[in-house]
Amino acid sequence: MKTREYLTAIILSVISAFIYNLVTKKFPSFDILKKILSIVSKNLSSYYSAIFIFLVVFLLVILYYKNRGGISFAVISSSQKPEYIRLRGLHSRFGVIWSFLCGHTLLSVLIDKTAGDYVYVEGPFCPKCLTEVIESSKNWILCKKQVWICPKCNRTVYRSNKFYRAEKKIVEKSIERDLRIKDFILINGKKEPELKDNTTYVFEIK
Ligand SMILES: [Zn+2]
Repeated sequence: MKTREYLTAIILSVISAFIYNLVTKKFPSFDILKKILSIVSKNLSSYYSAIFIFLVVFLLVILYYKNRGGISFAVISSSQKPEYIRLRGLHSRFGVIWSFLCGHTLLSVLIDKTAGDYVYVEGPFCPKCLTEVIESSKNWILCKKQVWICPKCNRTVYRSNKFYRAEKKIVEKSIERDLRIKDFILINGKKEPELKDNTTYVFEIK
């Protein structure tokens, strides 16, 4: 925890308490907290609810920062795009390119305090022109083969039967592993490197 994070927690708590106090002064019937707290003690001043709000918000913000602390990939998988992105990158696998975000949503942190950041995979994209590919099938001798086709350059990538429809999950798990043990290549500058298969490339680390 940094001083800046404590300061943020204090400022947010003061603002929340101030707003709560302002609202309940104008509309005393909204002060449900005071009614609850009056069970403990009957003669409470109107500031007790505000102090209570201050403490709750302060603790929530501190917990939020604590869970974020360090790059700890106690990764949960999620189908929801992260709102707070810690890093982004690329991964080449199954003949196509996958992009990923690693971060969290405020909700994911509130629901599971140990959740931390998770990997969200997007794509796949064409290895030649990086257009998002579409799923299709092709007749191959007597059987049908599942493929990815690039709508821009028509490149066709045959999908493996063994991992059909599990590709994204496999890529997600591989990236999680690479980030967790810091087995990735950091990309500096804007130029994208030649992507090696089954390797995670990371653009930025916040
Ligand atoms: Zn293409």
